[in-house]
Amino acid sequence: MKERLHEIREKALAQINSTDSLEKLNEVRVSFLGKKGELTEVLKGMKDVAPQDRPAVGQIVNETRQAIEEVLENAKKELSAKMREVQLKSEVIDVTLPAKKNNVGHRHPNTVALDEVKRIFVGMGYEVVEGPEVEYDYYNFEALNIPANHPAKDEQDTFYINDKVVLRTQTSPVQVREMEKGKLPIRMIAPGRVFRADEVDATHSPCFHQIEGMVIDEGITFADLKGTLAEFARELFGPETKVKFRPHHFPFTEPSAEMDVTCFKCGGKGCRMCKGEGWIEILGCGMIHPHVFEMSGIDQNKYTGFAFGIGLERIALLKYEIDDMRLLYENDVRFLKQF
Ligand SMILES: [Zn+2]
Repeated sequence: MKERLHEIREKALAQINSTDSLEKLNEVRVSFLGKKGELTEVLKGMKDVAPQDRPAVGQIVNETRQAIEEVLENAKKELSAKMREVQLKSEVIDVTLPAKKNNVGHRHPNTVALDEVKRIFVGMGYEVVEGPEVEYDYYNFEALNIPANHPAKDEQDTFYINDKVVLRTQTSPVQVREMEKGKLPIRMIAPGRVFRADEVDATHSPCFHQIEGMVIDEGITFADLKGTLAEFARELFGPETKVKFRPHHFPFTEPSAEMDVTCFKCGGKGCRMCKGEGWIEILGCGMIHPHVFEMSGIDQNKYTGFAFGIGLERIALLKYEIDDMRLLYENDVRFLKQF
């Protein structure tokens, strides 16, 4: 029995030393120390050993087991270390290799212009609000004083979902939605996408962007409107910018005006940019119509207010001297990169 144990020990050590992977090492462990392993088999033969010899044999069995376990453990540590080294070598990063070039996106000129407009109005204490692009005919037209037979409805022909629901033709319905909330005073701008049944050309698109603005409070006058929008123009186009208001008509404001700014290219002398006029039309505005107040349930004896609408594309085209609106929607990275 002693010889048998010695044999097993030598055999196990030899096998352990020749293993080159952790899996094989485990196989060796099972084949000697496992439930059906060689050493376990020997232990089953203990019943044939004379009782007085059993302690001595038992000790040798234990020594053999300990010796094998110890060598196994060492081999395992060594192999793990070796494998880790191999892995580290194979995953080494060559810092001298040229880097992969990442394509970084760029803010769209519309976004740049919008952020600028937002910055100016938020700085004056305005809140930025949003409304639905798919809108009730009521909010888009009727509540803005444009009844079914009004000629303005013709100019703003849009895409109808059904008799009562349209793609909004303007951001003005957001005004009505804010007024209906009944929280006064209001100082808001509402940027967003609008839709018209227009053919695509250098200055038209069936889908474009507006920025609506509205102020309602006690004692708001046309002077507040002028001061606010003149300050906006100076912030956007430079401190030398002058503004002028021309009478106009919008159904939902009275009186109404269009605002021009002095051409920021020639300073008002006349150039190609302003078609020799010295002035550039920039937005529509006016004092909120009493009828609009009435429909939204706001006490027009107590409150007054003004509203304005800015074409976002117009600002972007002017600011960056782009002469064709279609360029904004072609998603040509070479073009967009310039801004
Ligand atoms: Zn000019």
